[in-house]
Amino acid sequence: MLTCPNCGVSPLTHAIREMQYSYKGQSTTIADVAVEHCAGCREVMFASGEHEHYGELIKAFRKQVDAEELKTIRAMRKRLGLTLQKADELLGDEQGDFARYEAGEAHAPVALVKLLRLLGKHPELLDAVR
Ligand SMILES: [Zn+2]
Repeated sequence: MLTCPNCGVSPLTHAIREMQYSYKGQSTTIADVAVEHCAGCREVMFASGEHEHYGELIKAFRKQVDAEELKTIRAMRKRLGLTLQKADELLGDEQGDFARYEAGEAHAPVALVKLLRLLGKHPELLDAVR
């Protein structure tokens, strides 16, 4: 049995944990994460090889969130009756921003996505950002 590298005293025990992961305000639970747990200092670390496995799951989740975000941006823009060009003028930094966001070529700032969600719910506020 391995000794805890953190405290150097207690032996590590193998355990299966659930881990919470958040990305752009969305949370997911990663189930069945293999960890080594120290009963002495309560340090928890990934079991051998688990870091890569966990990394892949995280990557998949981020990809899913990003894909949903593209749909949200397009849906909210259309709900507000904005062309790509109009959306760039009102809410973008430069021409072509929304086309790039919706094609997944650039990441929209989190604040912009939140603003679009807000405007989608309260389209009457669009005049306030003109
Ligand atoms: Zn320890």
